[in-house]
This record gives sequence, C-alpha cells and structure tokens, in this order.
Amino acid sequence: MKPLLIISLFLSQACLAQESLMQLGQTVAWHSANAKNRAISIQEELQKADQYFNSWMGVQPEYQLYVLSPEDWKKYAHPQIIYGMPHYNGKGQLIVAAEDNIFWKRNTPSLDRLSQESAKQMKETYGNPPSLMSAFDLLAIHELGHVYQQKAGMVKQRNWLNELLCNILLHTYLAENHKERIPNILVFAKSNIEAFPPDRLKYTALKDFDEKYNELGTQHPDNYGWYQCQFHAKAGDIYDSIGEEGVKKLWNTLLSLKTLLPDEELNQVLYSVHPGLEKVLKEW
Ligand SMILES: [Zn+2]
Repeated sequence: MKPLLIISLFLSQACLAQESLMQLGQTVAWHSANAKNRAISIQEELQKADQYFNSWMGVQPEYQLYVLSPEDWKKYAHPQIIYGMPHYNGKGQLIVAAEDNIFWKRNTPSLDRLSQESAKQMKETYGNPPSLMSAFDLLAIHELGHVYQQKAGMVKQRNWLNELLCNILLHTYLAENHKERIPNILVFAKSNIEAFPPDRLKYTALKDFDEKYNELGTQHPDNYGWYQCQFHAKAGDIYDSIGEEGVKKLWNTLLSLKTLLPDEELNQVLYSVHPGLEKVLKEW
C-alpha cells in the first residue's frame, strides 16, 4: 500500500534480494524458501491483472513480485513497514507477506462487534476463525496499480487519490474478470470499517491522510489500513456508479494533468469525469 518511502535506504537492500530468494521459474516472482505455492497463486493473479491493465493503459511496466517470510521481510522489505503490509518500493518491486501474521490477525474485524449479516459474510468469505490471507493476496494488484501510475508518468496529485485509484483499478480488474472474488476484498473492507474501535483511530480526515501519509504507514499501520478499507469500499461504489468506461476516463483524465492542481480545481476535474464520482467523493 505504501509507495516511495525512504527509497534510497531501501535500494541498497533490494540489490541483495535476489541472492537469497528463489525465482519462480522464469516469472517475475521471487519468494522465500517455504513460500513457493504462495508465490504461484499470487503471481498467477498478478499476471492476469497485468495483462488486463496493459490492454487499455497502453504502457508495460517492468516489475518483480517478492513473497517474503518474516525473516526475509526484515532483510528486504521497507525497514519501517510492519510484516504483512503490502508495499511498493518505487523501483518495480512489489512486496507482500507469505504467511498469516499478527498485523492481519489484529485487523481482523471482531465478529462480536459486527452485525449478524456482516459476521455471517466474514465467516463465509474467510472461514471461522477468519484468515485475511485471500484479501491481502489481492493487494499485490493494488501495488501493481502504483507501478502503472509511475510508468505512465501520472503526476501525484494527492496521496489519497493515488491510493484510491489503485483500489479502483483492483476492483475494476475483479469486476471485469473475477466477479466472484470481489467479496475477498470488500467484505473485509466493509467489516473493518463497521467494527474498528474509534478510540484506536488517531486520524480520520482525508487531509490527515495526505499530510500524515508516512507517519500513518510506519507508525499507525492499523489506522492506515482503516483508510485503505475506506478507499476499497469507495472504490466498489465508484465502479458500480461509473463502470469500466468511467474508470478508463478517470485514468486518462488524471494522466492528462501535468501540474499539481489546487483542491477546488482538482475536485472540479474529478467531478467532470462522471456525476457518480462526484457523489461518492463528496461523501467522505
Ligand atoms: Zn498503495
């Protein structure tokens, strides 16, 4: 979820990564010793998403997928990002966890804080007790969205918009190719929002997400995850409202912006893409 954090520090470590990780055949995936099967399933989905994005974005970025054990995470992931939080390092490397972990468990919505219907969906989607692995595995596709933004040369207007766009891309890929997998991400996102204890949220405003982006990602990962769940839920609403064609128009519109726009101007550009986008964005 986190692009471009302390890149220079990361790079010196990333160069070493392939010396101890194993490559998955001739693919772009590298994995820890015991994570081959995990790498296969994440890589297969990522490759399909890559083909889908490439089919209408008109660029082809190069990237590598790292599926890491906790031990390898310490060596090769961003040093301040908790094990389990997917991230992109700005140099084509998508980093995800191979194993279920404390971060996922801690952020699994507590069933007794959920409505009966939400608790039922949680159990149906993630098992009982629930494991969020199928949700977090899909986030490699969110990270791929960052790679495409970078390759296409998109100007980063706002952190929240960059993140929301990646979630819209993930949702659009699923809706257009694997509708049945939408619950894997959306049930978690909506349940997390429903059950998250408000006293554990340091920040909730959109402008805080923008201004405290690095602080949130490194010091308040649960709070950061809550924002991402909000973005996932909104991404679903936006896709439902504007459809694939609207998403393509949004992508091309953002790509056409060559300078940083002030808030009001940026809002007007976003609202001009589709009335449905205006409605969802105004609901924050
Ligand atoms: Zn992200």
